[in-house]
Amino acid sequence: MKVVKTIQEVKDAVQVWRAEGQDIALVPTMGFLHNGHKSLMDKARKENDKVVVSIFVNPIQFGPNEDFATYPRDLEHDRAVCEAAGVDLVFAPEKEEMYKDGFCSFVGMNVLTEELCGKSRPCHFQGVCTVVSKLFNIVTPDRAYFGQKDAQQLAIIKRMVLDLNMNVKVIGCPIIREADGLAMSSRNTYLSAEERKAALILSQTLDLAEKMAKEGGYDAKSLLNALKKNIEAEPLARIDYVEAVNVLTMKPVEELSESTLVAMAVYIGKTRLIDNRMILGGEQ
Ligand code: AMP
Repeated sequence: MKVVKTIQEVKDAVQVWRAEGQDIALVPTMGFLHNGHKSLMDKARKENDKVVVSIFVNPIQFGPNEDFATYPRDLEHDRAVCEAAGVDLVFAPEKEEMYKDGFCSFVGMNVLTEELCGKSRPCHFQGVCTVVSKLFNIVTPDRAYFGQKDAQQLAIIKRMVLDLNMNVKVIGCPIIREADGLAMSSRNTYLSAEERKAALILSQTLDLAEKMAKEGGYDAKSLLNALKKNIEAEPLARIDYVEAVNVLTMKPVEELSESTLVAMAVYIGKTRLIDNRMILGGEQ
């Protein structure tokens, strides 16, 4: 496995693979890799000849008061995880390599970015679409793997690929959780022992949402009221949003159906965590 820092080194490796007729997977990450990331790599490994993992904490998807500076980083650990997963190439550029002096071109999106994380984090998805477009141009993958943990991001990337005629198949992968239900996230490392317990409120509230939706008799409004009440009973939790949206459009729904995604962002202390579920078992 090679670890490279320059765009040219990635392009050189890809050129050789292409000449050999190999198909190529990309798994974009911000590093501090855990089993959620590993599940993407494992699927990529099974379905492709070559697997590229990018590790890049992308400055332009963070707002001015967010955690870009403190986001956890550990390249040695990440290298070992990638090696064990049978990855062929790790691309870990510095920010100056990705954003040269004078950088001023961005990929943006309307509609799908207007709710949920897009509402609380203006510019976040412009940063995501821009960096993912750059990675697609650099790696030219046949397939790219994204987690359903970031459900809005997955919907946005699928739409971007469709709208901009990009030659890549976007593959969504299920959310990997700790044994007690907490969705794995690099940001879980910010939690104190007490906060770690309180963080279970997210997955527990999604369990409740699924149970209520399956029972029937609730519209989105009554469901969301019950979910908010459930979260508010946890003293360390502060709701950013809890919404029931259509999984393709990311727009709020009134009635619950197979295409309804319940998504939430909740602060546990200072740490903002996200989680989501298709509450009636539909496809994401
Ligand atoms: P990140 O490093 O947080 O930007 O995540 C990189 C990729 O891993 C994204 O496509 C995420 O959706 C995915 N991912 C992160 N956490 C999980 C998880 N718990 N289960 C599945 N995929 C995940």
